[in-house]
Amino acid sequence: MAPVLTETYEDLRRGVRNVCARFPNEYWRDLDAARRYPEEFVGAMTEAGYLGALIPEEYGGMGLDLLAACAILEEVNSSGANAGPAHAQMYTMGTLLRHGSEEQKSAYLPKIATGELRLQAFAVTEPEAGTDTTSIRTTAIREGDHYVVNGRKIYISRVEQSDLMILLARTTPLAEVEKRSRGLSVFLVDLRDAEGLRVRPRRMMMNNATNELLFDGMRVPAQNLIGEEGEGFRYILDGMNAERILIAAECIGDGRWFVEKATKRAGEREVFGRAIGGNQGVQFPIARAYANVEAASLMVQKSAALFDRGGPCGAEANLAKLLAADASWEAANVAVQTFGGYGFDAGYDVERKFRETRLYQVAPISTNLILSYVAEHVLGLPRSF
Ligand SMILES: Cc1cc2nc3c(=O)[nH]c(=O)nc-3n(C[C@H](O)[C@H](O)[C@H](O)COP(=O)(O)OP(=O)(O)OC[C@H]3O[C@@H](n4cnc5c(N)ncnc54)[C@H](O)[C@@H]3O)c2cc1C
Repeated sequence: MAPVLTETYEDLRRGVRNVCARFPNEYWRDLDAARRYPEEFVGAMTEAGYLGALIPEEYGGMGLDLLAACAILEEVNSSGANAGPAHAQMYTMGTLLRHGSEEQKSAYLPKIATGELRLQAFAVTEPEAGTDTTSIRTTAIREGDHYVVNGRKIYISRVEQSDLMILLARTTPLAEVEKRSRGLSVFLVDLRDAEGLRVRPRRMMMNNATNELLFDGMRVPAQNLIGEEGEGFRYILDGMNAERILIAAECIGDGRWFVEKATKRAGEREVFGRAIGGNQGVQFPIARAYANVEAASLMVQKSAALFDRGGPCGAEANLAKLLAADASWEAANVAVQTFGGYGFDAGYDVERKFRETRLYQVAPISTNLILSYVAEHVLGLPRSF
């Protein structure tokens, strides 16, 4: 499917497509059925250097910009694969890169770049707090040269497949801080040595290796605190624009995959003696989905370019995520409709991608929260919560 805009990073895209071609639909289908982590795919992407795309060259990464990282994730999803198991490494690493000490960066980033260490777990969500992150109840209390962590997290992905995890916990009780956003801190947890942590896998709609975490006196060395104690919420917010833009790029990849699949099917499938795509009732929804995916893609490109220039991009990052998630979901529905009964058949891959792309309306940030950002921060309407 020819993109509207002449795409950037054509060589990079070709390289990613070559890696993805080694992992055809059958691979993802079998993986989904077995609910297995894509070790082989993640290994190949790491070996090719793509998961270290945003790690500066001095730490062994590719030192690329966000626009390039978007190209990588978009190509992964448009190949029929799912970037979910890999994307967290790109944006989670940003917290360490932007706010970690030089010692932490030189200790971990080169190993993350080579794949010797995997940082794909990011623990924020809690059952009691939900979207209201400053209400989290997991605490980390300093005791000598350690912090002692107690509490519970829910829906934390890839904990069993990661060596390292970024953890957000409260270090000063809510009652003792001036602002709710203060008193939260970010830690780098070494999962290979995490006594006092219990991991309970949850069976989710999609194969995302997602878990409940129970912390019962887990000790984290004080040297694993990232940045300053009490400033963690700011650090997490700081990474959100990049995260939203990267997720939006994945949605564009999904959207293009669905449109291509639907178009091919509409051209080939014959009912009543002719191709179903000859009917306007079938072709118009596909054409509309194509238009919306390509329009959203422009906002993704714009937001990534603004981010790379270092200017403000909060509005564009949120719009990109909103538009791209809506476009991929629309394209997913159109693909299912075009396939008819075959759209529900695991053997045709549409139902798997349909489930996968549905997530972007909810996680890592729900559509409502994006809309409230736009209403409040872009349009200047009153804060609604
Ligand atoms: C497969 C999967 C993987 C995940 N992986 C991770 C992970 O690795 N790490 C992690 O930290 N989290 C992870 N999450 C959690 C995810 O980020 C949250 O589910 C998401 O942020 C929404 O929070 P919640 O589920 O508590 O919803 P709730 O906060 O309970 O919200 C429920 C609904 O109410 C809406 N809502 C809430 N408040 C308002 C309001 N003021 N105005 C309008 N609407 C509102 C929300 O938009 C949402 O649609 C994952 C979730 C899933 C499903």
